[in-house]
Amino acid sequence: MKPVDRHLADILAAVRPLAPLEVEIEAALGAVLAEDVASPVPLPPFDNSAMDGYAVRAGDVAAVPVTLPVIGDVAAGDGGLNALGPGLVTRIMTGAPLPAGADAVVPVEWTDGGTARVRIDRPAPHGNAIRRAGEDVRAGDVVLREGARIGPAQIGILAGVGRRRVLVRPRPRVVVLSTGAELSEPGTPLGAGRIWESNSFMLAAAVREAGAEGFRAGSVTDDPKEFMDTLDAHLLRADAVITSGGVSMGAYEPVKEALSPLGTVTFEKVAMQPGMPQGFGVVGPDRVPIFTLPGNPVSSFVSFVLFVKPALRAMQGLPAGPPATVRATVTGPVRSPAGKRSYLRAVLTGETVAPVTGQGSHQLAALAAANALIVVPEDETSLPEGAEVEVIPL
Ligand code: AMP
Ligand code: MG
Repeated sequence: MKPVDRHLADILAAVRPLAPLEVEIEAALGAVLAEDVASPVPLPPFDNSAMDGYAVRAGDVAAVPVTLPVIGDVAAGDGGLNALGPGLVTRIMTGAPLPAGADAVVPVEWTDGGTARVRIDRPAPHGNAIRRAGEDVRAGDVVLREGARIGPAQIGILAGVGRRRVLVRPRPRVVVLSTGAELSEPGTPLGAGRIWESNSFMLAAAVREAGAEGFRAGSVTDDPKEFMDTLDAHLLRADAVITSGGVSMGAYEPVKEALSPLGTVTFEKVAMQPGMPQGFGVVGPDRVPIFTLPGNPVSSFVSFVLFVKPALRAMQGLPAGPPATVRATVTGPVRSPAGKRSYLRAVLTGETVAPVTGQGSHQLAALAAANALIVVPEDETSLPEGAEVEVIPL
């Protein structure tokens, strides 16, 4: 059996970052920046008032109370200002440029609010309530680095430095296709021998959570031709494909039957539980990466976490490797098959981790109750209560 780490290494060696693409900044949410973004100007671009009040010369208001003539108003957006002479003040609004000669702003709350003359009751020290040009960003400063995930604040600073378009690695479009003659759409009645289809919903959601776009292609029966036709129909809009089911050792394994003859997808046994039967390769003229995950819901979920999620990171140009782990103390004894790495569903609370009841690979409710996976190494068959274990937080 192939070690888990080697299977991941093979996958990461085969996937490539998607080509960068210029998009409108509104469309960049969730994408990964493919360029360094610098500001062409300082931010703020000019000294301006942090408050509504009066622009003054600090020396003129050192002794208070003092009443001074108000020569006018400066509003946000005003340009071409006259310099402020000694002994004079001007009303100024938040964001308005500071007139030459002024070196402090007296907040309106420290005054009688006068418009022709104003009485100032508190001295404002030099620089008071002034936002200096360049105190956020200097001209030429890089504000976002290549590889940053673009969230709302990043879109904000892109606009703030005047960018309308930006170079990103797009979110990979991932088609999720389930196989199984027993599968019924949720929301439809359940016939004899059938179950509601859950994997495509779960995996498409996992794809979205991983920063990519997940499309459900629904489910097909166990007919290899139907599988292949559906796959072909979706390949055009896919940067990657995930299938579930149909890769085990039984009969009616449509994924294996349809893809094996192509010679571009390898089906292997990976030394793990759950999730031993794995397949990975490329399909179609564009050699789209395909992950053929086992059908048991917990197996397909764990396979996603271990193999697909790192691959989606690599496709987004992000550092990719095995999932991050933490150490915790297990609250009860755990068992694991010899020669396989186990991923036990568990609840992680602070520094302790409790395996959930129901470790079967079909037990999706137990997975839904878990927030972590306990990793039991290949050479361990049991661990006692109190053992320190490695845990993948979900
Ligand atoms: P398979 O890998 O196709 O042999 O399926 C293994 C087990 O997972 C069977 O019990 C299937 O019924 C179940 N299964 C397969 N695909 C799905 C799915 N999309 N949703 C829920 N259960 C599934
Ligand atoms: Mg099946």
